[in-house]
Amino acid sequence: MIRELTWLPAVLKNAGLKVATVDGWEERGTNSAMGTVLGVLCHHTAGPKAGNMPSLNTLLKGTSKVPGPLSQLGLGRDGTFYIVAAGKCNHAGQGIWKGITNGNTHFIGIEAENTGKADDFPWPEVQVDAYCRGVAAILKHIGKDASFCAGHKEYALPKGRKPDPDFNMDDFRKRVADILNGVAPDPVLIPDEEPAKPDGGKGRKTTRRGDRNDLVKIIQGKLGLTKDGVFGPKTEAAVRQFQRDHQLVPDGIVGPKTWKIIDMVPAPAQPQPA
Ligand SMILES: [Zn+2]
Repeated sequence: MIRELTWLPAVLKNAGLKVATVDGWEERGTNSAMGTVLGVLCHHTAGPKAGNMPSLNTLLKGTSKVPGPLSQLGLGRDGTFYIVAAGKCNHAGQGIWKGITNGNTHFIGIEAENTGKADDFPWPEVQVDAYCRGVAAILKHIGKDASFCAGHKEYALPKGRKPDPDFNMDDFRKRVADILNGVAPDPVLIPDEEPAKPDGGKGRKTTRRGDRNDLVKIIQGKLGLTKDGVFGPKTEAAVRQFQRDHQLVPDGIVGPKTWKIIDMVPAPAQPQPA
């Protein structure tokens, strides 16, 4: 069954954000239906310190106390939005914000990867910037202003039940408002495809997690993976490592800059198991 919030990837992509769909996202949600979206609830995962989005599996499956999915969106440390679920999720619990008490029904939950401790503060600017832009894009889509974005710590009852997110929500809402009001600088976008070739041929499309096509096979061949044409978590991890090895931004997305370097390396002789 396809769920209610299938507009999420397009709205985030149109805001210039990095988006990765997680297999099955369109059908994922709790057993009851999502209601009218009235706002966004901001969280941090309190997950591990290492890796871009190590809590992703927890968001899908849930914990011993709370069944998954735990949020519609995950936000990696590099600013990538992972689309976890298009349906209702268990992220809010008891609370109130602007008179709204059934948070899971009316708020989209964003779980941003951060330990929530002093060892992970301040947050990477690329992640905070994406957080603000993602929230602004959602609020614009539903026709609400920045006041309809709350921190879990502000919503949760009884007071003090939740500490997340561990940054100042008034500062955060100010940044969101600046984006909504058009006074924030434009984001730097990854082009959708390479520039046209000198002979007029079309450039290759920017390729990322969730894609299934022959371009994925080319990437997998160059990285020594099994060429199944499915850009999943293993391919993404291999792309990130490749980018680190070649001094590129390790965002796991194969855009024009990464394509250029991929072209320069020979494929390994023997494919390795994926
Ligand atoms: Zn939370």
